[in-house]
Amino acid sequence: MGKTVNPYHSALPGDHFDGVRFFNPGHAETDRGLRDLLRWRLREKAAPWPRWVASRQTVPDALVAGLRATIVGHASVLVQAGGLNVLTDPVWSERASPLSFAGPRRVSAPGIAFEALPPIDAVLLSHNHYDHMDMATLRRLHGAHGPLIVTPLGNDAILRRAIPGVRVVTGDWWERIDIGKGGEVTVVPAYHWSARTGRDRRMALWSGFVLSTTGGSAYFAGDTGYGDGRIFREVRQRIGRPDLALLPIGAYEPRWFMSPQHVDPNEAVQILEDLEAIRGVGIHWGVFRLTNEPRDQPPELLLEALARRGVAEELFPAGEPGLSYEPGRESS
Ligand code: ZN
Ligand code: ZN
Repeated sequence: MGKTVNPYHSALPGDHFDGVRFFNPGHAETDRGLRDLLRWRLREKAAPWPRWVASRQTVPDALVAGLRATIVGHASVLVQAGGLNVLTDPVWSERASPLSFAGPRRVSAPGIAFEALPPIDAVLLSHNHYDHMDMATLRRLHGAHGPLIVTPLGNDAILRRAIPGVRVVTGDWWERIDIGKGGEVTVVPAYHWSARTGRDRRMALWSGFVLSTTGGSAYFAGDTGYGDGRIFREVRQRIGRPDLALLPIGAYEPRWFMSPQHVDPNEAVQILEDLEAIRGVGIHWGVFRLTNEPRDQPPELLLEALARRGVAEELFPAGEPGLSYEPGRESS
């Protein structure tokens, strides 16, 4: 057997890179063998989902001076802040899959039609899983808007191979990247993993982001487990309280399989509190069926968790496609 080579990134080992693969320091193992995968797929019952759910579609303003997040669906959000238009993990495709004819299919339409997008300055791309890195959408965005794609280490190699001329900048955890117009992005740690093919597990880094602008700041978690919660408290300490926190609330069952890599709604509320964010919005639910919980369970469990912790409901709604959220206002 030859030595394993990382085709995306080469560097000396560090505190979250072993020379070939990235890892989550001090966190539970995210790798799962075939046995666990089969146990999940064969023994655990996945709840049925509706084939289609009607959702709203909106036409966003071209510019927002303050801070507004409009949900496209799953982890895709249009964040407008301080005159910047930024998309998180944009997926407009029918399926979150390497294949156009198989894999999880969306059950609701994007909350913003692709053609209705305002000029996009930047894309925050958290990791290379197919429900986050959708090459068809990124190619289309590059053609129509030419945005700067900000992504953690190694993902640039994947993007450059697929999209000639793509504008991409990578950062390691805690690196700050200037995106122009007074905006800055900090790449922040997440407890997750990555894989695009059968042979590149954890070879490109995963992350969350903090977008800091003159109109306010937004935290986008990407995909993450909770673990010891240290990375979220550290965001608060190093960068400050975000005005808005986009937090995943779906794709969490079964817990024995998912908990190192995906938070549940209760843990999402804990992250909101760790960050001391002004307001949270629940994302990563209700669009693609990736795991076993029923489609409508994440918002129900979110409400329960908020009630149990004495947090007002309007401080952390489950985001709906086509609706907009601002730090100090009800959804519209
Ligand atoms: Zn993922
Ligand atoms: Zn995901």
